[in-house]
Amino acid sequence: MSPALPPHPFDPADWDTLRSLGHRMVDDMMGHLEKIGDQPVWSPVPADVVARLSQPLPEKGVGAEQAYATFLRDVFPYPVGNIHPRFWGWVNGSGTPLGALAEMLAATMNPNVAGHQGSPRHVEDQVLVWLAELLGYPREASGLLVSGGSMANFVGLAAALVDRAGFDLPGQGMISAPKRPVLYASTETHFSVDRALRLLGVGDAGHRRIPVTDRFQIDLAALRATIAADRNAGHHPVAVVGNAGTVGTGAFDDLDALATLAADEGLWFHVDGAFGAFAAVDPGLAPLVRGMERADSLAFDLHKWMVVPIEAGAVFVRNGESHRRAFRVAGDYVTSMEGGIGVDVTAFAERGVQLTRGFRALKVWMSLLAHGAEAYRSLIRGNVKLARHLDLVVSGHPSLELLTPTVLNVVCFRYRPEGVPEPDLDDLNRRILVRLHEEGIAAPSYTTLGGRYALRVCITNHRSTTADLDALVVAVTRLGTALVA
Ligand SMILES: *Cc1c(COP(=O)(O)O)cnc(C)c1O
Repeated sequence: MSPALPPHPFDPADWDTLRSLGHRMVDDMMGHLEKIGDQPVWSPVPADVVARLSQPLPEKGVGAEQAYATFLRDVFPYPVGNIHPRFWGWVNGSGTPLGALAEMLAATMNPNVAGHQGSPRHVEDQVLVWLAELLGYPREASGLLVSGGSMANFVGLAAALVDRAGFDLPGQGMISAPKRPVLYASTETHFSVDRALRLLGVGDAGHRRIPVTDRFQIDLAALRATIAADRNAGHHPVAVVGNAGTVGTGAFDDLDALATLAADEGLWFHVDGAFGAFAAVDPGLAPLVRGMERADSLAFDLHKWMVVPIEAGAVFVRNGESHRRAFRVAGDYVTSMEGGIGVDVTAFAERGVQLTRGFRALKVWMSLLAHGAEAYRSLIRGNVKLARHLDLVVSGHPSLELLTPTVLNVVCFRYRPEGVPEPDLDDLNRRILVRLHEEGIAAPSYTTLGGRYALRVCITNHRSTTADLDALVVAVTRLGTALVA
């Protein structure tokens, strides 16, 4: 008999006390979300709170009760705003109450989903098949849940390079490339693609930024000409990136034409569908993503339009062998066992960068299981309807100007009253946006279109209503009028 060890404080001496604290946490979570619309969208973190959050690590802990009280005072009241019904900045999802609870459950099980045997790997497998079905992508594709779209783009492009480099890239490294590898994407492409290409050794010099048409779609003639010029110059064209929903305006490249072009040129076809890929779930919107199903790899987010709590994204690679070749390495500590927990122990870890991987599949799985595909279809459809509503209101308003055609869920416009000269409009709209945030009214972000500053509303929010968008329009014109006067 070994002597009884003193209990470590990480497990409570009195489970009932921590249990009741946990119950209070859940009550506070639900209370917060239930009333979120009554709060300002955003308010700045007060200086005294920042000061308290800058204190040194305590040698002796304050205890769970006091730590939670500090959270309630200094952390909970000052979020970034994206769970609020009038947040439409950048591309952020609203999260869900069930998703928050699922995060607690996932942390409770705390598995490593590298591939170890247990229910979590089957949950991730199921989630990946469900997502493939939702998006109309082959369900046999090799998939992986990742932190978000940036990592998904990285993984897809890593597979592209290994598959099409024309030499043993994993073994020899980029320094052995007989020709410079070149990848193609439109100027509207998200900067996570730029970053992936830097990390993959392609660099800015191997990244061709192809101009767009007046509808912000990749210019196919320019793309073809650039590929031809690269071949003439002795470079090695590897892949083309298509956008399903650009971050600036929500534009869709002609994915079907890109798939054909890529096939003709022997290029890998990668699609960045961060939020726009989900146009596939609605028959009325699906024509926008025609050709996406032909992609060699597809990156998309779950924490944006699928409103899964941050972080969650996913990537599919059609050819599983290319996917694994990019990431598989040998190591004794990860050699699979013939039985037990360690059978196929790196099944997921050899599809991406992480070895130890969290159970992010659970929040996705529980959400899809509980709400069903139809709820997501109606979210996507409803957000697109809201965008069209805002488009109509702006178009019919004498002092507002729509700056791009509204394709999906992104509306770009500006305040433009009679009598304000063009050179002053950028600054006026910049100030309107800051006031919208600082008064806690609404949170669009901005973009620059043809040199003009635009208020940008990107709706990936299950809490927004028509009234919220009408309130934005009222506030923009009120603030604009005041600023002009
Ligand atoms: C948000 C976004 C990304 C990056 O995704 P993260 O989840 O922020 O890493 C990539 N592409 C597009 C089009 C995006 O909107």
